[in-house]
Amino acid sequence: MRYGLVSDIHSNLPALEAALESIQALGPIDGLLCMGDIVGYGPQPNEVIERLRSFELFSIVGNHDLAVLGRLELGDFNADAIQANRWNREKLTDTNREWLEQLQPMSPFNEKVTLAHGSPLEPVWEYLTTPQAAARSFAKFETQLCFVGHTHLPRIFRLKANPSEGDGFPRIIRPFKSVTYHPRTEMIIPPPDQVFEIKDERIILNPGSVGQPRDGDSRASFAVYDDKTQTITFGRAAYDIYLTQHLMRQVSLPARLILRLDYGL
Ligand code: ZN
Repeated sequence: MRYGLVSDIHSNLPALEAALESIQALGPIDGLLCMGDIVGYGPQPNEVIERLRSFELFSIVGNHDLAVLGRLELGDFNADAIQANRWNREKLTDTNREWLEQLQPMSPFNEKVTLAHGSPLEPVWEYLTTPQAAARSFAKFETQLCFVGHTHLPRIFRLKANPSEGDGFPRIIRPFKSVTYHPRTEMIIPPPDQVFEIKDERIILNPGSVGQPRDGDSRASFAVYDDKTQTITFGRAAYDIYLTQHLMRQVSLPARLILRLDYGL
């Protein structure tokens, strides 16, 4: 089976459409796995939910989704995020609210894959940005693989079978490279259009953000997981940023949230 991996779409429909097109251009998929933060920040919460649900979809919720549902205090958000979150809350239809309400921030998908928004250790809030943090999370899920979102950064965290294993893993297709060191966990920044082969090791993986990338590349970020070939393909899709920005301006969403889309920050 082949699955499109999407996360942190944040009500950005043009970005989602571009990601879906690129995902399907790589080959037919059997479904989508979504790691949450479907809504918040952007201008089209209902359209994004409905588009996702037009696929065979397995999804969890993120902190922004929970805040839109009123299940999380907005106090931990910055002023722009609060304003956008309130706007998203007002716009959400009853049907879409009810659908969001039955999702969890962490959930096993099958015997091989678990989804968690932030991290398996702290599904709602933890930002997995270091191998040290990822190392703590490997004990918190049962499956071989865990797909996460939340940081808006494409990342692979790989649990080494043997602590003495060094860097420069020959079977990882270059230019994948390790950037920081932990004796058991390696963090890899995957460049787009690279195929990552999964062997027997345990992996925590973030496909990056569809709707608000934060790694300096403004294109929608996504991945495709093939459980037969045991590969993950990372990808980026250019989209009509101006259209999303125009829709945001029309409904007076915060200027800084509009601007950041240009920079992928
Ligand atoms: Zn997010």
